[in-house]
Amino acid sequence: MYNVKSKHAEEFIDHQEILDTLAYADANKTNAELIDSIIEKAKLRKGLSHRDASVLLACELHDRNEEIFALAKRIKEDFYGNRIVMFAPLYLSNYCVNGCTYCPYHMKNKHIARKKLTQEEIRNEVIALQDMGHKRLALETGEDPVNNPIEYVLESIKTIYSIKHKNGAIRRVNVNIAATTVENYRKLKEAGIGTYILFQETYHKESYEKLHPTGPKHDYCYHTEAMDRAMEGGIDDVGCGVLFGLELYRYEFAGLLMHAEHLEAVFGVGPHTISVPRLKRADDIDPDAFDNGIDDDTFAKIVACIRIAVPYTGMIISTRENQKCRERVLELGISQISGGSKTSVGGYADGTLEDDDVTEQFDVSDTRTLDQVVRWLMERGFIPSFCTACYREGRTGDRFMTLCKNQQILNCCHPNALMTLKEYLMDYASPETRAIGEALIEKELEKVTNPKVKEIARRNLAEIEKGSRDFRF
Ligand code: SAM
Repeated sequence: MYNVKSKHAEEFIDHQEILDTLAYADANKTNAELIDSIIEKAKLRKGLSHRDASVLLACELHDRNEEIFALAKRIKEDFYGNRIVMFAPLYLSNYCVNGCTYCPYHMKNKHIARKKLTQEEIRNEVIALQDMGHKRLALETGEDPVNNPIEYVLESIKTIYSIKHKNGAIRRVNVNIAATTVENYRKLKEAGIGTYILFQETYHKESYEKLHPTGPKHDYCYHTEAMDRAMEGGIDDVGCGVLFGLELYRYEFAGLLMHAEHLEAVFGVGPHTISVPRLKRADDIDPDAFDNGIDDDTFAKIVACIRIAVPYTGMIISTRENQKCRERVLELGISQISGGSKTSVGGYADGTLEDDDVTEQFDVSDTRTLDQVVRWLMERGFIPSFCTACYREGRTGDRFMTLCKNQQILNCCHPNALMTLKEYLMDYASPETRAIGEALIEKELEKVTNPKVKEIARRNLAEIEKGSRDFRF
């Protein structure tokens, strides 16, 4: 039944193919010869099939695992350099008609405070986010056709893009809302969204149906085929992910890569990003009630294997993970992280909201401010980037992928990242963070080998220093 180009979820995510893949990976987990040949293939930096990548994930040979981690690190450096893109989630509404058993927004939760932001409240949230220094948001809502119809999401996007507070601006709005129709995806595209993000939660159909017992999200095929509809609606940057902890991680890993292969086969472009959320404690949700939790070592191995399997796909980690865990996976393939996040509706404008805790979607493990996260990244040698230039210049979908696959990202993005960091340092950073940042920019600028690019970057940095904010990052 497996058919990568099929339009049917159960054919491009074929259960039997996943089981066969897992059996193959298990049978070869100590097969040094095969593992070496896959590592050699991976070194070509063209990615790996779900079968090959699953063997690496299952590999039990210590020295080969060390090689896998080292290769993931090298690939990350080659494709992304030391830039880390910053973003924050913005929760618009926690009204939801679904019955997801792992999410506190589920309809049966009667004691969680339900809240939907008005456009005025969205303004206040966005101003608070701009005042932190954020330029890129991920919009989040529960699924509720009455309270959160597409018109509400579209109006909110318009509001967000319209707000210019001091030097602030939200330059890219990514959207994480429930699976919808081609027509609605088209409207989102017209509203100027960046990436459309939708987590699969689990690729295992039977588990999926149990975990989503009621509501529109119960429909596995409709959910799994959402990215196809999004692409048909003209959105060429889509963000996939699974919620680790719900099902066996090896199953999810193979499913995730099959999904990426499917999008690439049908639309010529794989997912723009992959997120790796892990199930967290939340209002009436106890993660220990789920059997498939993964430890930090396994989590790191998953990140490394995804990096090797789809080198050109960005990888996102949220504040669900603590500082220590984030530190580890940043080295292995993560290219985007959130900072200073609130997962409650209205949590940014008024951090002291009394109902703050009870509208929260999940417990945040990394509670540091954006300034602290930026400083920490720089101290570890990373460049926090607030750049959205690709999207603003129309380099999305396959145009972005071509840039990435040719390893051009580094040439084009490195100076842009430095300039957006400079803007951040000037406008929002604490004096200590700014001092570290200025030194880092000087050092990183020296790495630019093209004298013309270096000269332009220097000139632009000087303009930013003088107060200009006219650049299209
Ligand atoms: N409602 C939209 C949907 O159905 O896809 C997406 C928005 S939801 C706010 C974003 C994601 O949070 C979900 O896709 C899910 O993976 C994740 N999530 C839900 N409950 C969680 C929990 N207890 N811990 C960690 N992540 C959770």
